[in-house]
Amino acid sequence: MKLERVLDYAHTLLEDVISEGDCVVDATAGNGYDTVFLANLVGNSGKVYAFDIQQQAINATNDRLSQADLTSRCAVILAGHEEVATYVTTPIKAAIFNLGYLPGADHTIVTKPNTTLTALDSILSQLVIGGVIVMIIYYGHDGGLEERDALLTFVAALPQKKINVLRYEFINQKNAAPFIIAIERIKA
Ligand code: SAM
Repeated sequence: MKLERVLDYAHTLLEDVISEGDCVVDATAGNGYDTVFLANLVGNSGKVYAFDIQQQAINATNDRLSQADLTSRCAVILAGHEEVATYVTTPIKAAIFNLGYLPGADHTIVTKPNTTLTALDSILSQLVIGGVIVMIIYYGHDGGLEERDALLTFVAALPQKKINVLRYEFINQKNAAPFIIAIERIKA
């Protein structure tokens, strides 16, 4: 298949931009799959900051990192991604947001428009030229449509001379299939 599936394409975008030594953010650690993926890309000299508001997600992420022997490259933080600027003070090369709820856990604990936008704005202000933010937008749950629409309104208004915004979506898929918003800084 030439057209990569949404989750695969999200990882391809990150792989293309992240190098050894980079500082990157997993804004929604969840079960830790993306954190491990990022930790492999930044190498021994890089750093992954992973955020989640649920202790269960922090534990799952720490376990997965430990199994892969990648713990030392990561700071796994029990805090909302809206607080990213408190924890990450260096320039950011890339970030991923995997929105919605933690699979296998309480489906009412979901990412929310205001906090997602605060985090996005904050990471964008620390994003290096050539850096990328990838957002996987799930919107089938309660509140998902509001978050999707708030994000689309925000990113559509970003200045095109400084920032590229891509939407990657299979428009013939049913059941609120997730799609990607990718944001690339091209100018300070
Ligand atoms: N990337 C994850 C993985 O690889 O397994 C999946 C993430 S899951 C779809 C979404 C996660 O976002 C949940 O674990 C949820 O607790 C978390 N979340 C919700 N609000 C948050 C916030 N304000 N800051 C950080 N994480 C949040």
